[in-house]
Amino acid sequence: MSFLVVATKNPGKLREIREILGSEVRLLSLTDFPGVGDIVEDGRTFEANAIKKAHAVANHTGHASLADDSGLEVDALDGAPGVYSARFAGEEATDEQNNAKLLQLLEDTPDEQRTARFRCVIAVCAPDGSVQTAEGTAEGRILQCPRGTGGFGYDPLFLVSGLRRTFAELPPAEKNRLSHRGKALQSVFPLLSRFL
Ligand code: IMP
Repeated sequence: MSFLVVATKNPGKLREIREILGSEVRLLSLTDFPGVGDIVEDGRTFEANAIKKAHAVANHTGHASLADDSGLEVDALDGAPGVYSARFAGEEATDEQNNAKLLQLLEDTPDEQRTARFRCVIAVCAPDGSVQTAEGTAEGRILQCPRGTGGFGYDPLFLVSGLRRTFAELPPAEKNRLSHRGKALQSVFPLLSRFL
């Protein structure tokens, strides 16, 4: 086995996973396996969705797979958008629409109560169906207006804890070092050696 199939069509996620895992791990994605189709993310937790996606892709392709389920938890919104982060403003919502909805809901929330975190669960599934997971989080605060042009999703609104910059204002390597995805992927790295 010499490659992993990443269970995503999200180009932002795929780019970061490639950057973090580096060139030692050969990655394909769902765009290389169009027959897999859409996987319904109906789990109530990031872990349930990550495991479901990893299983489905390993099952359909016969290859080892890696799935990322991730999102933003805002304390003033009782953890929303959470597992609904990608479709917060509707099924086909763009990042801009999701960000606009978030800002609107937090309109009357003062800065000190706008605390939030990104959470990511990575699931790695072997062709025999065995799965292992790892989680990473990144703490921060939701700004009143977007800042920066890097990253994807909610990055321009997420002021990283301990820094004066949003994820969208950081160079990619710096975001990857501090991010929920970077931390989760560092933990699964040792598990990947059997697929190289
Ligand atoms: P998933 O495909 O259900 O895991 O959706 C993840 C969604 O969470 C993305 O579409 C983004 O809206 C958001 N998200 C996850 N990770 C990040 C990140 O690193 N930056 C910004 N938004 C993220």
